[in-house]
Amino acid sequence: LFVVFEGADGTGKSTQVAAVSEALCAAGHEVVVTREPGGSAIAEILRDIILDPAHDIDPMTETLMFAAARADHLHKTIRPALGAAKIVISDRFVGSSIAYQAAGRGISQHTVTEINRYATGDVTPDVTVVLDLDESVAAPRRQGRGALVDRMEAAPDGFQQAVRASFLAQAEAAPERHLVLDATQPAKTITQQILEHLRTHHGV
Ligand code: C5P
Repeated sequence: LFVVFEGADGTGKSTQVAAVSEALCAAGHEVVVTREPGGSAIAEILRDIILDPAHDIDPMTETLMFAAARADHLHKTIRPALGAAKIVISDRFVGSSIAYQAAGRGISQHTVTEINRYATGDVTPDVTVVLDLDESVAAPRRQGRGALVDRMEAAPDGFQQAVRASFLAQAEAAPERHLVLDATQPAKTITQQILEHLRTHHGV
C-alpha cells in the first residue's frame, strides 16, 4: 500500500506522517516512512541543493531536479518496499510537483505530469491525504516553528495560495484516490480520520 501526504507548508504534514506511521507500526504492520525531496541517498543530496536559498534555480531546472530525485527515491526506496508488501508512507510525491512547479512556478501541468511519468513509471499512490489549510493559518504556523526558511518558503505572495488550490483541484479530479482533511482540526482528530479511512478503504 502506497500512502502519500500532501499539503502546503505549515499544514501539519510531518506530525500526521509520524502519528499515522506509529499507529500502523503498533498495529503490527511493516511501514516504511519516507519523504520528498529525499528518501534515498542521492535524492537527499539533491534536496540540499534544491532547497538551499543560496541557489537561484529556474523553474524547469527545478522540475527536472525534483524528478531526478524522485526517480532515485522510487528506484532505491519505494519500489523495493512495495515489492516486499510493506506499507510505504511518503511525505510528498508527484502531487507536490504539480502544486509547486506547475501551479507555483508556472511550468505547464502537462509538462510536469509528463516529466514525472518518466520518473515514476507505473507507480501511483493508492491514497493521497491532502491536509488543507487557509494560508492565513498556515503562514503563522510556519513562522512559529522557527525553522530555517527554505527557498520555496521564501516564495512571493500568492505562491502558497496557488499551491493549496492545486492540491484541492488534484483531489477533485480524482476523488477516489484522495482524502482531503480540514487541517484546522486537532491533530489527534485528523490522525483518527486518516486511520479510519485506511481501515475502511484499504483494509489496514
Ligand atoms: O515538506 P517539506 O517542508 O519537507 O518540503 C520541503 C520544501 O520543498 C517545501 O518548502 C516545499 O514547499 C518544497 N517542495 C517543492 N516542490 C516539490 C516538493 C517540495 O517546492 N515538488
